[in-house]
Amino acid sequence: MAEKSINKKRYTIATLGSHCSLQVLKGAKDEGFRTLLVCEKSRLGLYKRFNFIDDMIVVDKFSEILEHFCQKRLEQTNSIIIPIGTLVAYMSTEQIESIASPFFGNKWILRWESDRMLKQKLMEESKLKTPKSVKSKNEIEKLCIVKLHGAAGGRGYFLVWNKKTFEEGAEKLIERNVINSEDELYIQEYVTGVPAYLQYFYSPLTNEIELMGVDRRYESDIDGLGRIPSKQQLGLDLEPSYNVVGNIPLVLRESLLAEVYAMGEKFVAAAKRLIPPGMTGPFCLEGVYDREGKFTTFEFSARIVAGTNLYVEGSPYSDLIFAEPMSMGRRIARELKIANKKGRINEVIT
Ligand code: AMP
Repeated sequence: MAEKSINKKRYTIATLGSHCSLQVLKGAKDEGFRTLLVCEKSRLGLYKRFNFIDDMIVVDKFSEILEHFCQKRLEQTNSIIIPIGTLVAYMSTEQIESIASPFFGNKWILRWESDRMLKQKLMEESKLKTPKSVKSKNEIEKLCIVKLHGAAGGRGYFLVWNKKTFEEGAEKLIERNVINSEDELYIQEYVTGVPAYLQYFYSPLTNEIELMGVDRRYESDIDGLGRIPSKQQLGLDLEPSYNVVGNIPLVLRESLLAEVYAMGEKFVAAAKRLIPPGMTGPFCLEGVYDREGKFTTFEFSARIVAGTNLYVEGSPYSDLIFAEPMSMGRRIARELKIANKKGRINEVIT
């Protein structure tokens, strides 16, 4: 990993205006950093409302972050970029890796989040229980969920139980120009139970894992289907989607927590082996608890997730660790502050 030599006088914390940027920049401000938002023109009206945003680079599209004027401003302001879901959703791995400014955490691991095959590899290396991925539509034998690549936020996902239902679903996505061919889809066995999103922070400075919160997602229209009586459901020719519209807080049975920490530790250890310097900072294990209370991880996010927006004032879990309100955004800024003070900034940026 190339060492970044950046001016140590004063850092700015920067991110893109979407996803969890408000929480990230509020946390940065609380820790005494200057803040910068790369903001799309269409969203200026929203972000101008918040006085913890010191500076903005206004763009037509987020991809302009790759252009010289934008990179120059980030450099001049001594910015450290906090990667968020928007970055992963709207930019290719190559584009992300070409950004010259330093990133908080490990920017190389974002490739492993975007690529389904690498994602599966890291989950297997972590020895997490995962749903079987189904190699071809001819091998679909039970209920499966079909996904798009990248952080699509559940949009366009559909359920299938044989080759025919897969082909019908894929055909609809092709007609709507969401995909060009069936090869762009990823088939995974469906896990029954209740979904839970485990939000962690790993500090390379202390070598500790912190559980910062848990949430579940509120997804349209799968979470709305239960509001329709079965008779009407049967009459609807509806393909449910899993588009996230918000997040709901969750606390787990305390007896589940030991396993939650164990899973986080296995994930961090595997990431260290496969993708140096490893899983620095926030990450999320996303899965389903079955009726025995066993967790199957169907996804991970290798950066801050939007479910942490619930806990701007801290969560029932962060409150057990910190004597002050600690959002994930603030935790990131705290890590940067401590690393900077100790002359260890290169251990928390790439
Ligand atoms: P994701 O984008 O992978 O987080 O998935 C979006 C939503 O799809 C999740 O919040 C779950 O509701 C659902 N989901 C994804 N994978 C599975 C799975 N293997 N089994 C059951 N539900 C799943």
